Amino acid sequence: MAKTYAIAIDGPAGAGKSTMAKALAKELGYHYVDTGALYRTVAYFMDLLGVSPKDADGVERYIDELNVVIEYDEEGKQHMLMNGMDVTGEIRTQDISQKASLISAHPVVREALLDMQREVARNHNVIMDGRDIGTVVLPKADVKIFLTASAEVRAQRRCDELNAKGQKSQFEQVLKEIQQRDYQDTHREIAPLKMARDSVKLDTSDLDIDGVIAAMKKIIGEKIPL
Ligand code: C5P
Repeated sequence: MAKTYAIAIDGPAGAGKSTMAKALAKELGYHYVDTGALYRTVAYFMDLLGVSPKDADGVERYIDELNVVIEYDEEGKQHMLMNGMDVTGEIRTQDISQKASLISAHPVVREALLDMQREVARNHNVIMDGRDIGTVVLPKADVKIFLTASAEVRAQRRCDELNAKGQKSQFEQVLKEIQQRDYQDTHREIAPLKMARDSVKLDTSDLDIDGVIAAMKKIIGEKIPL
């Protein structure tokens, strides 16, 4: 089988990972894999069952009843199937963001989702974004980028995004939630958010989308043929 390339993009919530990874995947003809959507799907499933995301026993009891599948439509957009049901839209709320962050700390959840992520990378050229892609999921990725930005900039971007979708949001509240998620994601015991040693850090606070894409392409181009 021909060699496949893997680009790992990690970083905190709101750093612009999905926007940039999606755009680059389109340009390079790579598969874009949004791994946060997997944790969101688990959080949504447990929520429907009334299981608290902090309830380790409850999560462990029901995780085997969930079948998570990633599918791509003709336009290359990723869809999440929860036991056959498309929940791509339902998992994109602030409530599920917080619950996904809590649920992702359970080892049983991370274990259940690990092979699926590696499998996609075995079969395709991928740009995968998440928190532990360069450190745990694809430690041998050809390129690793750690995208970050100040919490204030990330909160403002998230507010703009939510407002554009018609979901009214308050800057202070969104900032608080981002800071809480940062704390949870960096302090959990298993696969915490951290920069891989061989990752390149890119702070996007003062860059616009084109600036970030150009910087990322430069980093990628130094490691793999574009
Ligand atoms: O990226 P997104 O905001 O959709 O991720 C939701 C949550 O899923 C994150 O706050 C994080 O706790 C968790 N996550 C993770 N590992 C990943 C991707 C996401 O723990 N690779």
